[in-house]
Amino acid sequence: MNVFRPYHFLVENEFSRHRCVESVATIFLTNRECPFHCLMCDLWKNTTEQATPEGAIPEQIDFALQQLPVTQHVKLYNSGNFFDPKAIPRADWPRIAERVRHFDTVIVENHPSLCNDRCGEFQQLCETQLEVALGLETSHPQTLARLNKQMTVEDFARACELLRRQSILIRAFVLLKPPETSEEQGIERAINSIRFAFECGVDCCAVIPVRTGNGIMEQLASAGLFSPPRLSSLEIVLRETLSWNRGRVFADLWDAAQFADSPETAVLQISRLELMNLTQSVT
Ligand code: SF4
Repeated sequence: MNVFRPYHFLVENEFSRHRCVESVATIFLTNRECPFHCLMCDLWKNTTEQATPEGAIPEQIDFALQQLPVTQHVKLYNSGNFFDPKAIPRADWPRIAERVRHFDTVIVENHPSLCNDRCGEFQQLCETQLEVALGLETSHPQTLARLNKQMTVEDFARACELLRRQSILIRAFVLLKPPETSEEQGIERAINSIRFAFECGVDCCAVIPVRTGNGIMEQLASAGLFSPPRLSSLEIVLRETLSWNRGRVFADLWDAAQFADSPETAVLQISRLELMNLTQSVT
């Protein structure tokens, strides 16, 4: 992997915190592998084994921004934890801040146990609104323990409190149907997890259907311990949680056709979910 180039970048529309559709640039940064190794994660595929050298991340951001159109918001996603100094060197912060200062919101990913006062320091350096995306995955304690996330729901709640004290916005990732979960349990636990996230002060949730792809999930599937969720389950979760009007909820639609109930319904199902994502209302 070339640490001086992002491994991907793109622009999407998202229903923003200003309650309208705005453009968001996402830069997928190349950096050191996340040290946590959660069961369902395949993000290590685009990472390196060594710590990221100083100067590489600002150069990656420059490379992407030179080619992307102007957008209101930016996601700096690094397949791990923005506040892991081996992934994003602290010495690069001023140069990163200079490059993202003009965005309305800067969104980064981080593990709840790596949330501390440094998040607020970075927000001050950026002089704009920081949003930290945390993987809650599930509020079901036994399932969370099996995912090897190395955190509890209490750790998640503490991280949210700490971020909120520093006026940082929070996005939560919630899994739909982790291993050893039936379709019905998957729906119920995803809904409960989103409720829990909002109770912790989260501003928006992204629901991610669990998929195969990292080798371990394939082994669990062969052992009868995992099968991917149905797209109709994702729709049930989205419909229910949007009807609360409590905060934004997005269905993650990357490669969503594989979850369609049948090939014939895929296009219609996905377009319904896209519309709900962009309007934040139940169609
Ligand atoms: S903390 Fe996030 S990036 Fe790291 S292994 Fe877990 S899911 Fe993957």
